[in-house]
Amino acid sequence: MTQTLAFAAITQTLAADSAGIADAARLLRAGSLVAFGTETVYGLGADATNARAVAQVFAAKGRPHFNPLICHYPDADAAFVQVEASDLARRLAAAFWPGPLSLVLPRRADCPVALLAGAGLPTLAVRVPAHPTALALLRAVGRPVAAPSANRSGQVSPTTARHVLEGLAGRIAAVLDSGVCRVGVESTVLDLCGDRPCLLRPGGATVEAIEALIGPIARGIAVAEAARIVHAEAEAPRSPGLGVSHYAPDAPVRLNADVVRSDEALLAFGRPLEGSGALFQLSATCDLTEAAANLFVGLRRLDTDVARQGLTGIAVMPLPGHDLGLAINDRLRRAAAPRV
Ligand code: AMP
Ligand code: MG
Repeated sequence: MTQTLAFAAITQTLAADSAGIADAARLLRAGSLVAFGTETVYGLGADATNARAVAQVFAAKGRPHFNPLICHYPDADAAFVQVEASDLARRLAAAFWPGPLSLVLPRRADCPVALLAGAGLPTLAVRVPAHPTALALLRAVGRPVAAPSANRSGQVSPTTARHVLEGLAGRIAAVLDSGVCRVGVESTVLDLCGDRPCLLRPGGATVEAIEALIGPIARGIAVAEAARIVHAEAEAPRSPGLGVSHYAPDAPVRLNADVVRSDEALLAFGRPLEGSGALFQLSATCDLTEAAANLFVGLRRLDTDVARQGLTGIAVMPLPGHDLGLAINDRLRRAAAPRV
């Protein structure tokens, strides 16, 4: 049995007043999806600590792959207990937050953000938005909120609540209507995990302003090309989050297994094949949202099992290619691809 994804039938529009913010926070804490305005574009928010809610974000957007999502916080202190902030990160935060700059930093060991939110990476993009309603919402939620732009995959980023509803009505619980977004382009994404700060995506915070503060930064992608893709999600295939830095298990991965050997670990979907040396169940009921939520946890767990138990690799049972299965299979193909 393969379950089709269930979306909220009716999307509420909530006013950006204290009652609306309280309702939005309640929905987010309960694991529902709520779009909300920021100074850049409308974000499609989910409780970042709830892997199932994060999986629903990819489902609602119809994304064919798992991009790492930016986690939103009400202030720098809240962000920096979850990621490791260098002195450079603190200087940038002091100068640009709240504002349209996302910083990619290493996750702390006890970081509660679901692995799926960072697409399995050991790093996390964090940001404090410069918008009073968004900040009030983040304070009320009291948890990091993962939020990509609130549009269907392949469509342009929304800057009004109406745009959000055009793409996502019936697929999310609510939109918090805080009017028109001021900046209108996404945040700048700056990776601080390497030897040198590196621009991964140009956006609302200009390179000139960043360089005026910290000196020259490297460009992750040709900026002329990046300028072209800022508005579109056609960025996806070139997205730095999907490149070589992406988490891949050390163990060889064998896809579409219909039998499993006793020297293999098994990533199961539905009734497990018999005979494996170690097992991780993505979803016993073949629920693709549950499988997406478990994917990166499962790959890591089995990778450790293979190393500890001297197994030869990870066999993966077939998953259907519809709904979130598309993104799951995309990620599994990357995990199984020959290493360079
Ligand atoms: P969106 O969620 O649509 O605003 O896109 C977020 C973008 O931020 C992704 O496409 C990535 O390019 C980038 N990003 C987020 N987290 C990371 C990360 N941990 N490492 C590298 N890039 C990231
Ligand atoms: Mg986007």
